[in-house]
Formats: sequence, C-alpha cells, structure tokens
Amino acid sequence: MRPKIYPQLPPPFNQIPRYPILYHEPSPIHPLPTLSHTSTTTRTPPIPRISIFAKREDQGSPLACAGNKYRKLEYIIPDILSQTPTYYYHESHPATKPLPGPATILVTEGALQSNHTVQVAALARKLGLKALVLLNRDTGGGYKTSSAPECFAQTGNVQINRLLGAEIRMYNANNPEATDAQPVLDELTKSGQRPYWIPGGASLHSLGGLGYARAAFEIAAQEKEAQLGGSGRFDFIFVACGSGSTVAGLISGFKLLEKLRRSSGEASWDRGSRNIIGILTSPTRPQNYHEERVLRFARRAGELIGLLDAEMEVTMEDVHLDDRFVGDGYGVIDDETRKALSLMAETEGIVLDPVYTAKVAAGMMHWVHSEEMTKYAPEHGLQEVNVLFIHTGGQAALSAYFDRI
Ligand SMILES: *Cc1c(COP(=O)(O)O)cnc(C)c1O
Repeated sequence: MRPKIYPQLPPPFNQIPRYPILYHEPSPIHPLPTLSHTSTTTRTPPIPRISIFAKREDQGSPLACAGNKYRKLEYIIPDILSQTPTYYYHESHPATKPLPGPATILVTEGALQSNHTVQVAALARKLGLKALVLLNRDTGGGYKTSSAPECFAQTGNVQINRLLGAEIRMYNANNPEATDAQPVLDELTKSGQRPYWIPGGASLHSLGGLGYARAAFEIAAQEKEAQLGGSGRFDFIFVACGSGSTVAGLISGFKLLEKLRRSSGEASWDRGSRNIIGILTSPTRPQNYHEERVLRFARRAGELIGLLDAEMEVTMEDVHLDDRFVGDGYGVIDDETRKALSLMAETEGIVLDPVYTAKVAAGMMHWVHSEEMTKYAPEHGLQEVNVLFIHTGGQAALSAYFDRI
C-alpha cells in the first residue's frame, strides 16, 4: 500500500480543470540507500550526510511507458475534449481558428525515440481518439550515431507507437514538416478530422506547465509525511530539462507553496527556497535559450495557479540550469552518461533512460561531491542534506540503444 496523500491545492489552482490519467495516489518517493551511503562516505570530510531519494514519475500512470508527459497532459485533456478546443494551435500559427468541435485526432512531434509521442499516442487511444506522430530522424544524434540506424528507427518507442496504432510519419531535417506541422493539420482538416496539435514535450502549450506545478504540492506533502532529517525537506531537486515545462512547472509550484507557507508563518520555511536544478540534456541550444524559455513557462504557469504578479514573483534567480552534462548530443550516450546508467543499475537496481535521466544522474552525482553541497550544509546549519532525483521515465528507448549500452 502506498500512503494516501493528496496534494491540497489552493484556489485558484484547484479550480483549473484536470482529467486524471495518473494513479490516484502520488507517484512513490523512496530512499536510495546505497547511493546515499557511497555519496557520503566518499567525501572528505563525510559531512554533511547526503540522503538521496527518487521520485518515480516512471511509475505514475497505468498507461504505456509512464513518464512525465502524462502529468502535463492531465491539464490539457479538458481542452481536447471540450466543444471548442482553443489551445490546440501551434504558437507560430496564432491565427489558426479554434476547432469547431471536440478533437478527433491528436497530433504531435518528437525525436525518433521520443517518449512524449508515445504518451500522447497512448492517451489518444485511452480517450478513443486517433493519433498521428511526426518523428524527426535528425533531432540530436541517436539515429546518426547508431551502428544500426534501421533498428534505431524500428525499436524502442517507435515500436510502441506502432503497437498503440499511431500513424507514424518520419521526417528528416530537410523536410519542411520537421519544423512546421501546419500542412499536416490542414491535410487532416480537409479530410474531415479535427486535429488537436500538441507541441513537442507539450511545453509550448499554454497549459503545459500546470502538471508539474501540481507535482510540487505533491512532493511537499510527501516530504512532510516522510519526516525527513535535516531541514525536513528536499534541499536539492534534480530533474531533466528538455523542452522545459517540467522544471518550469516545479519552479512555479514551489514558488506558490513557499509564498503560502511564508504568509502562514510556518517556521521551517525560513531557510530560503529549495534548489531546483534542471539538468540540460542537449547541447544544440545554449543555456540562456533554455533559461529564457523556462522562465517564460514558469511565469505562465504561475499566473494561472495564483501568483498574482508572476513577472515580479518568478525571476531568473529562480531558474537554475546546468549544461555541463549535455554530452556530445541529444540522444547520444557519452561515457559519463553510460557510467551513470550503470551506477544506478548496479547500486540500486534501478533502470534509467539513456536520453534524459542518465544525464540527470550524472549531474546529480557531480553536485553531490561538489563544493556547493559541502558549503550549503553549514550555511544552513545542517548536518544532512536531502536530495531528490526525479525519474521522469523513458526506459522504453533503451532497446534502440542496444549497440551502445
Ligand atoms: C520529455 C522528457 C524529459 C524532459 O522534460 P521537459 O518537460 O521536456 O523538459 C525528461 N525525461 C524524460 C524521460 C522525458 O521523456
């Protein structure tokens, strides 16, 4: 049995429609004892004690290949099912009119081994809709660096998309469809369908940040129940940053939480804000590109959930991204990423994914041994630092990397 803790959301956040596709209980948080032990004893001096936990977003939903996109989609479904879906259009095509009725097909895009597209396809089937996924061969280096590109394009998430009955269209960088889905949406509309467009990772979707804002409340409820040592909360939270709305949602959710707790005078909230570290997973764009997006997404979510002046309340000071672990390319496994995959498998028996969470683990292990963490404890009067690793899913891509792991 899992503990039954439900996040209590304040108004107006609790008024925003959400269609549940996650389990009713929060995704589990559990300790990583071996990793915590080695992280503590291999430091000199072995103070502070490092307690590492994992939040299992890869076990958050009964749907195929559970992962972080389902949490975002919960807040998008009411629009998909509404009589006048309004948020479906591509941000680069704001002139597109709202759909004249509930969507009949979900359309989305991603890299060849995208986890997001699988979660959209599974959701479509769950809702009784069709799915069309645009897969770009040239996003990152997974396909290019594979010793068996034919296999890379058929296994892992591609296979699961097929199993889910999604229509798959593969593109490469030279196709206009790789950057512009409008012709596909027009084609579907002409054939009498009502296509609902969900941008890659659902991050550009206006409602894309809400799911992880809610996750912040869930994590806060769980850390309270877990009766953590040290500060009593997770001092550092590590999560992947790809399209950006996962880390952005967390930033806005914790911002609201900390504001509410401060105004209620709860003493434990005097320690400043939690350190939410987004580990970047692709070197394609510079860090400041991602920072700007994450800030924008965090403010957009913040406005919706009740940060009345999100422009003022959420600032660049809240955005902490780390680009040191991006490796050689999106979807390319370098030595550090491979080592982190093995470390987690061999010490804790936990399987990560090769594209996102392994890079987060590599980054987290670096941080755990860094000066930031050593200095943080005495500065905050702590003997122990609590660290949360967010496992966002993605293991289904592993088989496509059979030649490199
Ligand atoms: C999409 C994805 C991420 C990144 O989340 P964003 O919200 O796009 O930043 C991290 N991990 C996994 C497994 C993913 O599929």
